[in-house]
Amino acid sequence: MPAPGPPLGMLAELTHRCPLQCPYCSNPVDLLKSDAELDTDSWLEVFTQAADLGILQVHLSGGEPALRQDLEALVACLAERGVYTNLITAAVTLSEQRIADLAAAGLDHVQISFQGTNPETTELISHYKGAHEKKLRAARWVRDAGLPLTVNAPIHRCNFDQVEQFVDLALELDADRLEIANVQYYGWAYLNRTALLPGPEEVARQAVFVEDARERLTGILNIDFVTPDYYAEYPKPCMGGWGNDAMAIMPDGTVLPCHAAQTITSLNFDRATDRPLAEIWNNSDAFERFRGTEWMQEPCRSCPRKDLDFGGCRCQALALTGDAAATDPACIKSPNHDALRRMATRASETGSGELIYRRIGSQGEPVA
Ligand code: SF4
Ligand code: SF4
Repeated sequence: MPAPGPPLGMLAELTHRCPLQCPYCSNPVDLLKSDAELDTDSWLEVFTQAADLGILQVHLSGGEPALRQDLEALVACLAERGVYTNLITAAVTLSEQRIADLAAAGLDHVQISFQGTNPETTELISHYKGAHEKKLRAARWVRDAGLPLTVNAPIHRCNFDQVEQFVDLALELDADRLEIANVQYYGWAYLNRTALLPGPEEVARQAVFVEDARERLTGILNIDFVTPDYYAEYPKPCMGGWGNDAMAIMPDGTVLPCHAAQTITSLNFDRATDRPLAEIWNNSDAFERFRGTEWMQEPCRSCPRKDLDFGGCRCQALALTGDAAATDPACIKSPNHDALRRMATRASETGSGELIYRRIGSQGEPVA
């Protein structure tokens, strides 16, 4: 196989700590505690190597990345090397001063997630009192600091009827971009899928509204719309293809081809503290295994779309079929597609409403 090109993007999950407890969280159920996190020097070394490797954009995420007191230093390290930085935050811990400090350190962009468009929904989903007001305040401070803002709206059964209000909220906050992203079912979200999956008609209604809003608001607000894989006809090109142009780093420095890849326990993952990032990207078992199209089975192997979607998501294939090399069941050509669609529709009609909140150390037990 020819040598891969350089990665362009990196998702850096700086910590799994988070004051919120969203049941749709894509973090692994087995969350890492703070004593497992890389220290400041190790993150600075990772980001220096990332810039040398050609990475152009780093998404600083978590958990809640603002819980890292060294966030300004990490942003500055990337900014000095010309790397674009995007902070993905729940925003409840951000003060006006902290946002100004991050802007001064060279932060380029902020994405704030809203669990709902009103305090009741935001608190129900985040399990955090006062979250909504804090998010609104932080969003205004972001704009006051001159930073571009994206409003992230993760959509599921408890808030699918608020899509219209999310557009109003994004306009009111002077956001540049709104991401209406139906939850993808990994980590805690997978655990909660029967409580969170909307029905196919509810997704179709969102699509019609978003199409209309996009047209109406051209030049005013960019709206991205992500449908749930479970109701798709074809899968998304997960991470733009395995080991193709992006990598993810966990709080303890484990380097992954995608943030959910550790569910594929047959792969060996390296840590950025044990092996140079360039070597991990170019030669490691985890990145090589599903890179390109050679590894594919039928129907992907002979499919004309294989260079477009790379056979979909490996983690989803494993979770739903037991085989990480299988065609993603989100694809209509997968022999498992009809069963997935039936399961999703049934869950959306009859699934339990009980939410399992995300907590470090809980291993998925309901919150008392
Ligand atoms: S999805 Fe919710 S719980 Fe998970 S990291 Fe984001 S804000 Fe925290
Ligand atoms: S068969 Fe494989 S390559 Fe073809 S569309 Fe489906 S997932 Fe993509």
